[in-house]
Amino acid sequence: MSKENILVINCGSSSLKFAVINPKSGEEFINGIAERLGSPEAFIRWKFEGNKEREELNGGAHDAAVAALLTMLADKGLKDDIAAVGHRVVHGGETFKESCLVNEEVLQAVENCSHLAPLHNPANLIGIKAAGKHFPGLPMSVVFDTSFHQTMPAEAYTYALPYEFYRDHGLRKYGFHGTSYRFVAKAACEALGLPVENSKLIIAHLGNGASAAAVLNGEGVDTTMGLTPLEGLVMGTRCGNVDPNVFSFLSKTYGYSLDEITDILNKKSGLLGISELSNDCRAIEEACAEGNQQAQLALDVFCYVLAKQLAGLAVATGGVDALAFTGGIGENSDAIRGKVLKALSFLGFDLDDQKNLDCRFGNEGVITTDSSKATAIVVSTNEELMIAKDTAALI
Ligand code: ADP
Repeated sequence: MSKENILVINCGSSSLKFAVINPKSGEEFINGIAERLGSPEAFIRWKFEGNKEREELNGGAHDAAVAALLTMLADKGLKDDIAAVGHRVVHGGETFKESCLVNEEVLQAVENCSHLAPLHNPANLIGIKAAGKHFPGLPMSVVFDTSFHQTMPAEAYTYALPYEFYRDHGLRKYGFHGTSYRFVAKAACEALGLPVENSKLIIAHLGNGASAAAVLNGEGVDTTMGLTPLEGLVMGTRCGNVDPNVFSFLSKTYGYSLDEITDILNKKSGLLGISELSNDCRAIEEACAEGNQQAQLALDVFCYVLAKQLAGLAVATGGVDALAFTGGIGENSDAIRGKVLKALSFLGFDLDDQKNLDCRFGNEGVITTDSSKATAIVVSTNEELMIAKDTAALI
């Protein structure tokens, strides 16, 4: 094996996900996660050659996780084949229009974007610094969730707020899930034989966090998430679009603080909030099958809002060649895809029920009929592979 594999790291405030991937073949040699970092229960687990293993980190934090990762990769004979480390970074603001190699200036610029993602960017930086320490001499790259959307025109990203907030502090729509959109846009065009430079795509990335994007000729032109990932679609625990005055309403009616309301909108709303049952789409679908009315309402609102916003994104592309579904829900829920495509039949989608049922659990493909005017397709996203490919291209 030549030295061309990439170690991909996705670092959160108390977790660190990793994978070693060959960017050419897409082969993933190992993947895992360190969790509860900084607490007495901290541990790291991984899957290698079909076996799951786990090691306690005895209260260690990110640095201990990367040290354990290094030892483990050396033990498995994987370390010496790693050519570079690719890091996922959540927010690149208006500074980062694409992925780039890490140097002091880049680290400072990522830090300067921290006010836009105070929970994420500082954690990403901790991961970058720990990897730099334990894998000295390896080039590292940063790949941003936001950069794909930097091609949005001002009319799409400007909020109708006093302009000084944008001018002084960058308050605007940024969008997220960009790495997934890049991967899926390319894969969908390849699968459909569409020329990327002449394509009108809408992509729905539906996981625990959910967003959709309008992609015109390969470039992001609008998206549903905003300054933060709270805007847009109904999600597992996030409310998506609501009247911004809910802040003053909840404050005056219940006496909640700003932090408490932020917590409610981000962590107690969405599917969980409406159903009062679960944030997990599978659990909601099972409850619907058993006749649970609130779960049904949660699913109905989820699908209605999704269909409405997908139709809105078609304004940005001026029509739709293809609608791609991805993410855990997009790749698996035939029920949600079916409901949404029926609501969008006026855009020319004609659902093929059997194909829709077949495209689950890793099966990808077109789910509209051969005579359908607009095409819908299921694509399995692979953000880690995209990060590995970017990193390989940069070195
Ligand atoms: P994340 O955003 O955390 O990466 P995923 O992309 O893994 O999340 O998506 C998680 C969501 O996918 C959950 O709501 C889960 O219930 C849903 N999901 C996974 N499999 C199915 C399925 N077979 N049917 C419906 N929903 C599913």
